[in-house]
Amino acid sequence: MKKLTVLTLFFLMFSCTSHNETKIPCYAWLDGPGNATDKEIKASFRDLKEKGIDGLMYSAGRDPEPYRRLGRIAKKEGLEFYAWIPTLVQGNNPEMKPEWFAVNGLGESAYDKPVYTDHYHFVCPNHEEVCNYLEKMYGRIADIPEVDGIHLDFIRFPDVILARGLWEKYGLVMDREYPKYDYCYCDKCVADFKAKTGIDIKSVADPSQVEEWKQFRYDLITNLVNRLTVMAHSKNKQINAAVFPGPNSVAKKIVRQEWDKWGIDAFYPMNYNDFYLEGTKWIGEMCKESVTALKNSKPVYSGLFICPDPEKKAAEPDPENHGLIPGELADAIRESMENGASGICLFTPDRMTAEDWVVFDKAIHTNYKKE
Ligand SMILES: [Zn+2]
Repeated sequence: MKKLTVLTLFFLMFSCTSHNETKIPCYAWLDGPGNATDKEIKASFRDLKEKGIDGLMYSAGRDPEPYRRLGRIAKKEGLEFYAWIPTLVQGNNPEMKPEWFAVNGLGESAYDKPVYTDHYHFVCPNHEEVCNYLEKMYGRIADIPEVDGIHLDFIRFPDVILARGLWEKYGLVMDREYPKYDYCYCDKCVADFKAKTGIDIKSVADPSQVEEWKQFRYDLITNLVNRLTVMAHSKNKQINAAVFPGPNSVAKKIVRQEWDKWGIDAFYPMNYNDFYLEGTKWIGEMCKESVTALKNSKPVYSGLFICPDPEKKAAEPDPENHGLIPGELADAIRESMENGASGICLFTPDRMTAEDWVVFDKAIHTNYKKE
């Protein structure tokens, strides 16, 4: 009997050691579930877990019920589960009044005249009704026991400058801030800024030169995030966000995210190098900037944009169909980890080819040294 116990102990120790081998934390952005059955969802979650994914940022609309169902399955499969729901893009939402939508420097509302694409229906974070709605909407999701937390996205203004790689796609040269893409000039924002600083921003020839006006808008986003953070934490839930790279070199400049001031629990910068016409080394530079800005106080998970069709990448004109190919994935992960990231997040696992998964398996089981 004693022999058996020792043997069992030895076996347990051995198996623990082998399971505790080096592995970096890995997350994935995923949406659904469409018409998938519980059985199908369970199989796909199990598959992701076996491939090394530790948690999901799952997008399934604004209603709590799908998250309850999906979260239950995710927890059974040993996955962390976060509800990934857009924050300030609120198109097709009957609860959003037209007057709550953001207004650009030409006086056009994102309600009926969104810029760039049809889904850019941004609301203005300076309306109490908007913040209150978001607090309640996320609160209902955070109340679900199977949900570990909420994952904010589109927690920003529309891109006042598009990422460099997207200029050709949209036929734009964004060499400076143009009024059409600059938000928010709704009556409330203009009046509140005037009351605060004495500046009538609508009478300023080049608002991009007014530092207080930038700060005013950084603060609108920061205040909303911090309010949602208080709500999530009051329910003992996590809160994290998909953010633009930086924050200083990209996020603040193009979408007004001063995210090093946010009190959330973790950051998922979308280090989508192809959007910026950059290689994998840049991913490392961005990670270094992120952890430095946060003074290493919070985890940063490096968001990696995976190429859906690697063989066609060279011939594909749309950068949104570019992304990391198997030959780049290992470098992207190494750059992230050596420059201070706590792990990585895939956009998206569905885009990963069989070859990608082979590369991924090796890369996530490597012991990286922070530089
Ligand atoms: Zn506004």
